[in-house]
Amino acid sequence: MAASEFDLIARIRARAGTRADIVLGIGDDAALLALPPDRQLVVTADTLNDGVHFPHATVPADIGWKALAVNLSDLAAMGAEPAWCTLSLSLPQSEAAWIDSFLDGFLALAAQHGIALVGGDTTRGPLSVSVTAMGLVAPGRALRRDGARVGDDVWVTGTLGDAAGGLAHLERASSPVLRARLDRPTPRVNAGRALAGIATACVDVSDGLLADLGHICGRSGVGAQVDVDTLPASGALRASFDDAHRLALQASGGDDYELCFTAPAAERERILALASLDLPMTRIGRIVEGEQVQAVRRDGQPWQPARRGYDHFDSV
Ligand code: ADP
Ligand code: MG
Repeated sequence: MAASEFDLIARIRARAGTRADIVLGIGDDAALLALPPDRQLVVTADTLNDGVHFPHATVPADIGWKALAVNLSDLAAMGAEPAWCTLSLSLPQSEAAWIDSFLDGFLALAAQHGIALVGGDTTRGPLSVSVTAMGLVAPGRALRRDGARVGDDVWVTGTLGDAAGGLAHLERASSPVLRARLDRPTPRVNAGRALAGIATACVDVSDGLLADLGHICGRSGVGAQVDVDTLPASGALRASFDDAHRLALQASGGDDYELCFTAPAAERERILALASLDLPMTRIGRIVEGEQVQAVRRDGQPWQPARRGYDHFDSV
Protein backbone atom coordinates (compact mmCIF):
# COMPACT_ATOMS: atom_id res chain seq x y z
CA MET A 1 0.00 0.00 0.00
CA ALA A 2 1.32 3.45 -0.88
CA ALA A 3 2.17 5.68 2.07
CA SER A 4 2.94 9.40 2.10
CA GLU A 5 6.48 10.60 2.76
CA PHE A 6 5.17 11.88 6.08
CA ASP A 7 3.85 8.39 6.98
CA LEU A 8 7.17 6.80 6.09
CA ILE A 9 9.12 9.24 8.25
CA ALA A 10 6.66 8.69 11.11
CA ARG A 11 7.27 4.93 10.87
CA ILE A 12 11.02 5.51 10.96
CA ARG A 13 10.81 7.97 13.83
CA ALA A 14 8.69 5.60 15.94
CA ARG A 15 11.46 2.98 15.87
CA ALA A 16 14.65 5.05 15.63
CA GLY A 17 16.06 4.30 19.09
CA THR A 18 17.52 6.82 21.46
CA ARG A 19 20.61 7.81 23.42
CA ALA A 20 21.11 10.18 26.34
CA ASP A 21 23.36 12.41 24.22
CA ILE A 22 20.64 13.17 21.63
CA VAL A 23 19.30 16.63 22.45
CA LEU A 24 16.99 16.60 19.40
CA GLY A 25 16.49 13.64 17.06
CA ILE A 26 14.20 13.03 14.08
CA GLY A 27 11.50 15.67 13.59
CA ASP A 28 13.24 19.02 13.39
CA ASP A 29 15.27 20.55 10.55
CA ALA A 30 18.41 18.92 11.89
CA ALA A 31 19.55 16.79 14.81
CA LEU A 32 21.28 18.23 17.86
CA LEU A 33 23.90 16.00 19.51
CA ALA A 34 25.91 16.51 22.68
CA LEU A 35 29.58 15.67 22.14
CA PRO A 36 31.62 14.49 25.13
CA PRO A 37 34.46 17.00 25.78
CA ASP A 38 37.19 14.35 25.68
CA ARG A 39 36.34 12.72 22.35
CA GLN A 40 36.90 13.39 18.65
CA LEU A 41 34.01 12.97 16.20
CA VAL A 42 34.55 10.31 13.49
CA VAL A 43 32.29 10.73 10.43
CA THR A 44 31.84 8.42 7.44
CA ALA A 45 29.29 7.96 4.63
CA ASP A 46 28.57 5.14 2.19
CA THR A 47 25.87 4.63 -0.42
CA LEU A 48 24.38 1.35 -1.64
CA ASN A 49 22.80 1.35 -5.11
CA ASP A 50 20.38 -1.31 -6.30
CA GLY A 51 22.12 -3.84 -8.55
CA VAL A 52 25.58 -2.37 -7.89
CA HIS A 53 26.14 -2.85 -4.15
CA PHE A 54 23.52 -5.54 -3.60
CA PRO A 55 21.83 -7.95 -6.01
CA HIS A 56 18.50 -6.62 -7.27
CA ALA A 57 16.57 -9.45 -5.56
CA THR A 58 17.98 -8.70 -2.07
CA VAL A 59 15.20 -8.55 0.55
CA PRO A 60 14.68 -5.13 2.20
CA ALA A 61 15.77 -6.35 5.66
CA ASP A 62 19.15 -7.39 4.24
CA ILE A 63 19.52 -4.07 2.39
CA GLY A 64 18.88 -2.28 5.69
CA TRP A 65 21.42 -4.41 7.54
CA LYS A 66 24.09 -4.00 4.88
CA ALA A 67 23.60 -0.23 4.51
CA LEU A 68 24.44 0.24 8.18
CA ALA A 69 27.04 -2.56 8.31
CA VAL A 70 29.30 -1.03 5.65
CA ASN A 71 29.31 2.26 7.57
CA LEU A 72 29.93 0.59 10.93
CA SER A 73 32.82 -1.20 9.24
CA ASP A 74 34.40 2.18 8.41
CA LEU A 75 33.97 3.28 12.04
CA ALA A 76 35.54 -0.03 13.11
CA ALA A 77 38.51 0.59 10.83
CA MET A 78 39.05 3.91 12.64
CA GLY A 79 38.83 2.26 16.08
CA ALA A 80 35.74 4.35 16.87
CA GLU A 81 32.76 3.71 19.12
CA PRO A 82 29.52 4.05 17.07
CA ALA A 83 27.15 6.77 18.29
CA TRP A 84 24.73 8.24 15.73
CA CYS A 85 23.70 7.84 12.10
CA THR A 86 21.53 9.41 9.42
CA LEU A 87 19.70 7.63 6.61
CA SER A 88 18.97 9.04 3.14
CA LEU A 89 16.58 6.91 1.15
CA SER A 90 15.70 7.16 -2.52
CA LEU A 91 12.73 4.87 -3.15
CA PRO A 92 10.91 4.04 -6.41
CA GLN A 93 7.66 3.55 -4.48
CA SER A 94 6.51 4.65 -1.10
CA GLU A 95 5.58 1.35 0.58
CA ALA A 96 5.08 0.96 4.32
CA ALA A 97 5.81 -2.79 4.19
CA TRP A 98 9.14 -2.19 2.44
CA ILE A 99 10.19 0.39 5.05
CA ASP A 100 9.13 -1.85 7.93
CA SER A 101 11.22 -4.74 6.61
CA PHE A 102 14.17 -2.44 5.82
CA LEU A 103 14.06 -1.12 9.39
CA ASP A 104 13.98 -4.67 10.80
CA GLY A 105 17.46 -5.26 9.38
CA PHE A 106 18.85 -1.77 9.88
CA LEU A 107 17.68 -1.39 13.48
CA ALA A 108 18.63 -4.94 14.56
CA LEU A 109 22.25 -4.12 13.73
CA ALA A 110 21.94 -0.59 15.16
CA ALA A 111 20.75 -2.02 18.50
CA GLN A 112 23.72 -4.42 18.61
CA HIS A 113 26.10 -1.47 18.45
CA GLY A 114 24.19 1.18 20.40
CA ILE A 115 24.02 3.51 17.40
CA ALA A 116 20.91 5.70 17.13
CA LEU A 117 19.22 6.99 13.97
CA VAL A 118 18.93 10.77 14.35
CA GLY A 119 17.81 12.03 10.93
CA GLY A 120 17.86 11.63 7.19
CA ASP A 121 16.04 12.32 3.98
CA THR A 122 13.36 10.49 2.02
CA THR A 123 12.91 11.05 -1.72
CA ARG A 124 11.47 9.30 -4.76
CA GLY A 125 13.88 7.83 -7.33
CA PRO A 126 15.82 4.67 -8.19
CA LEU A 127 16.44 2.53 -5.08
CA SER A 128 19.49 3.91 -3.29
CA VAL A 129 20.38 3.98 0.40
CA SER A 130 22.92 6.39 1.82
CA VAL A 131 24.01 6.30 5.46
CA THR A 132 26.22 8.68 7.38
CA ALA A 133 27.62 7.17 10.58
CA MET A 134 29.21 9.09 13.41
CA GLY A 135 31.40 7.69 16.14
CA LEU A 136 33.66 8.79 18.95
CA VAL A 137 37.32 8.20 19.66
CA ALA A 138 39.76 9.52 22.26
CA PRO A 139 42.16 12.12 20.79
CA GLY A 140 45.19 10.47 19.22
CA ARG A 141 43.68 6.96 19.40
CA ALA A 142 42.06 6.70 15.96
CA LEU A 143 43.39 3.97 13.66
CA ARG A 144 44.60 5.57 10.45
CA ARG A 145 45.98 4.32 7.15
CA ASP A 146 49.25 6.22 7.37
CA GLY A 147 51.02 4.61 10.34
CA ALA A 148 52.44 1.35 8.87
CA ARG A 149 56.22 0.97 9.30
CA VAL A 150 58.74 -1.31 7.58
CA GLY A 151 59.01 -4.52 9.62
CA ASP A 152 55.40 -4.44 10.88
CA ASP A 153 53.31 -7.58 10.53
CA VAL A 154 50.17 -7.51 8.36
CA TRP A 155 47.08 -9.08 9.92
CA VAL A 156 43.50 -9.73 8.97
CA THR A 157 40.41 -10.51 11.07
CA GLY A 158 37.99 -13.35 10.30
CA THR A 159 37.97 -15.07 6.91
CA LEU A 160 38.30 -13.64 3.39
CA GLY A 161 36.44 -14.25 0.15
CA ASP A 162 33.14 -15.48 1.54
CA ALA A 163 30.99 -12.62 0.24
CA ALA A 164 32.65 -12.69 -3.18
CA GLY A 165 32.06 -16.46 -3.22
CA GLY A 166 28.40 -15.90 -2.37
CA LEU A 167 28.14 -13.43 -5.25
CA ALA A 168 29.90 -15.77 -7.69
CA HIS A 169 27.40 -18.50 -6.81
CA LEU A 170 24.36 -16.22 -6.65
CA GLU A 171 22.41 -18.05 -9.36
CA ARG A 172 23.18 -21.47 -7.88
CA ALA A 173 22.32 -20.45 -4.30
CA SER A 174 24.83 -23.14 -3.33
CA SER A 175 25.96 -21.99 0.11
CA PRO A 176 23.69 -20.19 2.57
CA VAL A 177 26.78 -19.42 4.69
CA LEU A 178 28.46 -17.53 1.84
CA ARG A 179 25.22 -15.83 0.86
CA ALA A 180 24.74 -14.62 4.44
CA ARG A 181 28.25 -13.15 4.41
CA LEU A 182 27.29 -11.20 1.28
CA ASP A 183 23.90 -9.99 2.54
CA ARG A 184 24.64 -9.50 6.23
CA PRO A 185 28.29 -8.62 6.77
CA THR A 186 29.48 -8.38 10.38
CA PRO A 187 31.26 -5.09 11.05
CA ARG A 188 34.30 -5.72 13.29
CA VAL A 189 33.53 -2.89 15.68
CA ASN A 190 34.83 -4.49 18.88
CA ALA A 191 38.02 -5.66 17.20
CA GLY A 192 38.66 -2.17 15.82
CA ARG A 193 38.20 -0.58 19.23
CA ALA A 194 40.44 -3.17 20.87
CA LEU A 195 43.15 -2.58 18.25
CA ALA A 196 43.31 1.17 18.93
CA GLY A 197 46.66 1.59 20.69
CA ILE A 198 48.02 -1.69 19.26
CA ALA A 199 47.73 -1.46 15.45
CA THR A 200 49.90 1.04 13.57
CA ALA A 201 47.49 1.26 10.59
CA CYS A 202 44.10 -0.20 9.71
CA VAL A 203 41.64 -0.37 6.81
CA ASP A 204 38.42 -2.28 6.35
CA VAL A 205 38.42 -4.73 3.45
CA SER A 206 35.60 -3.66 1.15
CA ASP A 207 37.19 -3.67 -2.31
CA GLY A 208 39.46 -6.72 -1.95
CA LEU A 209 42.38 -7.41 0.39
CA LEU A 210 45.25 -6.53 -1.95
CA ALA A 211 43.57 -3.34 -3.13
CA ASP A 212 42.73 -2.20 0.41
CA LEU A 213 46.16 -3.09 1.80
CA GLY A 214 47.44 -0.98 -1.11
CA HIS A 215 45.64 1.99 0.48
CA ILE A 216 47.61 1.49 3.71
CA CYS A 217 50.85 1.25 1.70
CA GLY A 218 50.03 4.35 -0.34
CA ARG A 219 49.23 6.44 2.71
CA SER A 220 52.16 5.08 4.75
CA GLY A 221 54.80 5.24 2.00
CA VAL A 222 55.70 1.54 2.30
CA GLY A 223 55.24 -1.74 0.43
CA ALA A 224 53.80 -5.04 1.63
CA GLN A 225 54.35 -8.72 1.01
CA VAL A 226 51.36 -11.04 1.45
CA ASP A 227 51.72 -14.80 1.80
CA VAL A 228 48.62 -15.86 -0.14
CA ASP A 229 48.72 -19.40 1.23
CA THR A 230 48.14 -18.04 4.75
CA LEU A 231 44.95 -16.11 3.88
CA PRO A 232 42.19 -17.39 6.18
CA ALA A 233 39.32 -19.23 4.45
CA SER A 234 36.03 -20.48 5.86
CA GLY A 235 35.06 -24.14 5.53
CA ALA A 236 32.17 -23.05 3.31
CA LEU A 237 34.52 -21.30 0.87
CA ARG A 238 36.92 -24.26 0.75
CA ALA A 239 34.00 -26.59 0.05
CA SER A 240 32.64 -24.44 -2.77
CA PHE A 241 35.67 -23.50 -4.90
CA ASP A 242 38.89 -25.06 -6.18
CA ASP A 243 42.11 -23.64 -4.72
CA ALA A 244 42.95 -21.24 -7.54
CA HIS A 245 39.48 -19.70 -7.64
CA ARG A 246 39.34 -19.56 -3.84
CA LEU A 247 42.67 -17.70 -3.59
CA ALA A 248 41.49 -15.15 -6.14
CA LEU A 249 38.30 -14.56 -4.13
CA GLN A 250 40.28 -14.18 -0.90
CA ALA A 251 42.95 -11.87 -2.30
CA SER A 252 40.77 -9.73 -4.56
CA GLY A 253 37.09 -10.36 -3.88
CA GLY A 254 35.07 -7.49 -2.43
CA ASP A 255 32.57 -7.05 0.39
CA ASP A 256 34.51 -8.88 3.14
CA TYR A 257 34.24 -6.10 5.76
CA GLU A 258 37.07 -7.65 7.72
CA LEU A 259 39.84 -5.43 9.13
CA CYS A 260 43.34 -5.51 7.65
CA PHE A 261 45.87 -3.93 10.01
CA THR A 262 49.56 -3.62 10.68
CA ALA A 263 51.38 -3.91 14.02
CA PRO A 264 54.94 -4.35 15.30
CA ALA A 265 56.05 -7.96 15.92
CA ALA A 266 56.20 -7.13 19.65
CA GLU A 267 52.36 -6.97 19.65
CA ARG A 268 51.79 -10.54 18.38
CA GLU A 269 50.78 -12.01 21.71
CA ARG A 270 48.43 -9.16 22.56
CA ILE A 271 46.76 -9.50 19.17
CA LEU A 272 46.38 -13.27 19.43
CA ALA A 273 44.89 -12.78 22.88
CA LEU A 274 42.15 -10.66 21.27
CA ALA A 275 41.23 -13.46 18.87
CA SER A 276 38.34 -15.78 19.62
CA LEU A 277 36.68 -18.71 17.87
CA ASP A 278 34.23 -16.19 16.44
CA LEU A 279 36.92 -13.89 15.20
CA PRO A 280 40.34 -15.32 14.47
CA MET A 281 43.26 -12.94 13.82
CA THR A 282 45.66 -14.18 11.15
CA ARG A 283 49.12 -12.90 10.32
CA ILE A 284 49.29 -12.81 6.51
CA GLY A 285 52.46 -10.90 5.64
CA ARG A 286 54.77 -8.02 6.41
CA ILE A 287 55.43 -4.38 5.60
CA VAL A 288 58.52 -3.89 3.45
CA GLU A 289 60.31 -1.02 1.75
CA GLY A 290 58.87 0.12 -1.57
CA GLU A 291 55.36 0.96 -2.64
CA GLN A 292 53.90 -2.24 -4.10
CA VAL A 293 51.72 -4.93 -2.59
CA GLN A 294 53.28 -8.21 -3.64
CA ALA A 295 51.55 -11.54 -3.20
CA VAL A 296 53.79 -14.60 -2.93
CA ARG A 297 53.23 -18.35 -2.80
CA ARG A 298 54.64 -20.68 -0.17
CA ASP A 299 57.66 -21.38 -2.41
CA GLY A 300 58.40 -17.65 -2.73
CA GLN A 301 57.10 -17.40 -6.31
CA PRO A 302 55.01 -14.31 -7.08
CA TRP A 303 51.28 -14.87 -7.32
CA GLN A 304 49.33 -12.75 -9.80
CA PRO A 305 45.64 -12.17 -9.15
CA ALA A 306 43.38 -11.88 -12.17
CA ARG A 307 42.15 -8.54 -10.80
CA ARG A 308 43.20 -6.57 -7.76
CA GLY A 309 39.89 -5.32 -6.44
CA TYR A 310 36.55 -3.88 -7.26
CA ASP A 311 36.63 -0.52 -8.98
CA HIS A 312 33.27 1.03 -9.77
CA PHE A 313 34.61 2.66 -12.91
CA ASP A 314 36.61 -0.37 -14.07
CA SER A 315 34.29 -1.85 -16.63
CA VAL A 316 31.10 0.21 -16.83
P1 ADP B 1 13.42 19.01 5.88
O1 ADP B 1 12.41 19.28 4.79
O2 ADP B 1 13.52 20.12 6.89
O3 ADP B 1 14.73 18.56 5.38
P2 ADP B 1 12.19 16.45 6.15
O4 ADP B 1 10.70 16.64 5.97
O5 ADP B 1 12.98 15.96 5.00
O6 ADP B 1 12.79 17.81 6.71
O7 ADP B 1 12.42 15.51 7.38
C1 ADP B 1 11.74 15.68 8.60
C2 ADP B 1 12.51 14.99 9.68
O8 ADP B 1 12.55 13.61 9.42
C3 ADP B 1 13.95 15.47 9.82
O9 ADP B 1 14.29 15.42 11.20
C4 ADP B 1 14.72 14.42 9.06
O10 ADP B 1 16.04 14.31 9.55
C5 ADP B 1 13.90 13.18 9.33
N1 ADP B 1 13.98 12.18 8.24
C6 ADP B 1 13.55 12.28 6.97
N2 ADP B 1 13.79 11.15 6.27
C7 ADP B 1 14.40 10.30 7.13
C8 ADP B 1 14.92 8.99 7.03
N3 ADP B 1 14.89 8.29 5.89
N4 ADP B 1 15.50 8.44 8.12
C9 ADP B 1 15.58 9.13 9.28
N5 ADP B 1 15.09 10.36 9.46
C10 ADP B 1 14.52 10.96 8.39
MG1 MG C 1 13.93 21.82 7.01
